[in-house]
Amino acid sequence: MAYGDWHTHNQGCKHAVGKIEEYVKIAIEFKLKTIGVSDHFPYEFLNDIERIPYEEYAIALPEIEKYLTTSEELKEKYKQDITVRIGFEIDYFKNQESALNTHLNPIKKRLDFILGSIHILNFFNGRGAWGFDDSRFRKEYEYYGVDAVYLFYYQSIQKMVNSDKFDFDIISHFDLPKKFNDIPTDKEKVYEEMMRTLEQIKKKGVAMEINTGGLRKDCKEQYPSVQIIKEMFFLDIPVLLGSDAHRPEEIAWKFDKMIEILKRIGYSELAHYHNRKRTFIEI
Ligand SMILES: [Zn+2]
Ligand SMILES: [Zn+2]
Repeated sequence: MAYGDWHTHNQGCKHAVGKIEEYVKIAIEFKLKTIGVSDHFPYEFLNDIERIPYEEYAIALPEIEKYLTTSEELKEKYKQDITVRIGFEIDYFKNQESALNTHLNPIKKRLDFILGSIHILNFFNGRGAWGFDDSRFRKEYEYYGVDAVYLFYYQSIQKMVNSDKFDFDIISHFDLPKKFNDIPTDKEKVYEEMMRTLEQIKKKGVAMEINTGGLRKDCKEQYPSVQIIKEMFFLDIPVLLGSDAHRPEEIAWKFDKMIEILKRIGYSELAHYHNRKRTFIEI
């Protein structure tokens, strides 16, 4: 496989298994060209996260240095066999960029790429922040309603995209609210909000991830859907692949199938990152 897997976790975030090296070794076995190490960036400096079991959502602040040095050592150790790229998957929280940047800026130079994600929603006048892709918060879908979850999610992505203080390269798992197979009632309204989001992503110039983790969830489909990928192609938005592996054996999950789909839609290249600079590789 001439391409890479840009979305991988490891035991550092406490809800994935395996050391980073195990993921790298499997990636080599699968003959991947690149593996992007991208564990969840810490949460504990954020406000209003009392309801979230964030200790099991991400690595902790004191672990950042070890995460980076381990990844840097693996990059060197396996450089003959695979390109290791070092990044983080970072959650966007509205109006909390300064706190994030206090911790991110000192280490940012050591990163090749940053995945920008939203896993947490915090409705205005709502019940507080909650993890909408965490099955322990399923009751919140009933409380707010599925449509509201989708709409608020896409509006949150728009805030992330339009924040000049949130620095990232790639949008992760774009239509994540479908994870538990919740279908909006007013599909058209949600689609319009989704399209507005895509247009803003296009304007920002960041890439989007085709995340095969969704194929392992109730929705049984990659994020985003084929219909959305077609819109992305029409808007000329760059893409790359991520498995969202939380176990070593999930590396490059169904990538061959995904490459076929991308080619059929019209994509002929995938984005690649080094020191936060984007290049492209042909597929
Ligand atoms: Zn995770
Ligand atoms: Zn994620």
